[in-house]
Amino acid sequence: MGLARRHFMISVACAGAALAAPAVHGRARAKVVVVGGGAGGASVARKIAVDATGQIDVTLVEPNALHTTCYFSNLYLGGLRSFESLQHGYDGLTRAGVDIVPDFAVTIDREKRRVVLAGGGHLPYDRLVVAPGIDFVEDAVPGWSPAAADVMPHAYKAGPQTILLQKMIEALPQGGTFAMIAPPEPYRCPPGPYERVSMIAHYLKGANPTAKIIIVDPKAAFTLQKLFEDAWLKYYDGMIEWIGPDFGSRDVSVSPGTMEISIDGEAMKVDCCNVIPAQRAGTIAQLAELTDQSGWAPVDPFSMRSRIDGRVFVLGDSAQQGDMPKSATSAHSQAQVAASVIIGDLTGRAVPEPMYSNACWSALAPGDSVKDGGTYKPAGGKISSIEKYVSQADEDTATRTATYQESLDWYHTITAQIFG
Ligand SMILES: Cc1cc2nc3c(=O)[nH]c(=O)nc-3n(C[C@H](O)[C@H](O)[C@H](O)COP(=O)(O)OP(=O)(O)OC[C@H]3O[C@@H](n4cnc5c(N)ncnc54)[C@H](O)[C@@H]3O)c2cc1C
Repeated sequence: MGLARRHFMISVACAGAALAAPAVHGRARAKVVVVGGGAGGASVARKIAVDATGQIDVTLVEPNALHTTCYFSNLYLGGLRSFESLQHGYDGLTRAGVDIVPDFAVTIDREKRRVVLAGGGHLPYDRLVVAPGIDFVEDAVPGWSPAAADVMPHAYKAGPQTILLQKMIEALPQGGTFAMIAPPEPYRCPPGPYERVSMIAHYLKGANPTAKIIIVDPKAAFTLQKLFEDAWLKYYDGMIEWIGPDFGSRDVSVSPGTMEISIDGEAMKVDCCNVIPAQRAGTIAQLAELTDQSGWAPVDPFSMRSRIDGRVFVLGDSAQQGDMPKSATSAHSQAQVAASVIIGDLTGRAVPEPMYSNACWSALAPGDSVKDGGTYKPAGGKISSIEKYVSQADEDTATRTATYQESLDWYHTITAQIFG
């Protein structure tokens, strides 16, 4: 392909982008480095390796040999799934031709176009994908810090935190109190905290039926509220109390040392406290100066290309994703778009119109799930919603059972698509 043609294809790929991305010439195989092997990063790495048919070298930097999914981790807390069923290795990516580097990216030198690794090496790139998920806003909940997560776990990054929370729930004294400090928006998986409460209530109903659950929530309302509240009344009547801003949740602090929470100046002793703090883009995105004052990374909605650096793409929870909720389905869908654009950038191949989708599942009880999701496309300078669906309050048992089954099928399919 001649240079002129190649330049033309690149400008098509960048349509709508805030920054034109320079082309890569004079080298047989361009290099893509992906930071983070979760729903966004593993998806994009595998998709590029498969679709570019050997024309691009793809390297994935991820410190964990096994990725533990946050999605469905609540079902583990409810006793409906094993921990092992949440874990996925990277052999499928290796088979697809991705080079896995088991390391942690400590900085990104955008000027020299290289990723610096904790192990001391560095990886040069022509295009970089940053998909590190979330980190927590410092001091979001007074009294709590990441150092306190061993006592008051967040379990909002799955792995040892998930096991710790499960052990604490199991050890709750009979009639004890489990408290959750819910996060403000925007955060990963909007129904996640409320699905978690449903699943913990399911577990406690069997093992500890006089236990209490309180949710202290900075939000005046939460997603799928009617569906959750109906389910809590139906399955876990009298067990769950939700405390919103009208009842003091704006003024909350915790004392991990004494296992106390204070609501509107009133201290309360609890037996287990799950603190899910306010969230921001993964730290490496911040260190690379890819984020703005919102704490998230602005991206071009046509491509997921960073608005700050045209050679860099930000996917998944770290990105400002417009109307899309922060979910694994969203991250995977963004990865499909970004992979095509990156291949277009580097090989001149035509890039299809971007289209995005999302699906979130919430288990209320065994065999009873609800869902919400939709489709999205670039419009008005952001990723905009074009169609939505959500489970209804008056659905019959057969519909809910079908949704539960659909969620199991979704998990099987999406993890196969992400990890191969
Ligand atoms: C309780 C709960 C339930 C959920 N349920 C659903 C659901 O039903 N449906 C749904 O679609 N989504 C669900 N989600 C949301 C989903 O888990 C996230 O939105 C999704 O994982 C985001 O993908 P990501 O690639 O942005 O981040 P992650 O999947 O978190 O991946 C980030 C990866 O980056 C790695 N990393 C971070 N920093 C570095 C670095 N510096 N160097 C190298 N690697 C690094 C991490 O080790 C990690 O593997 C749920 C989340 C929670 C918490």
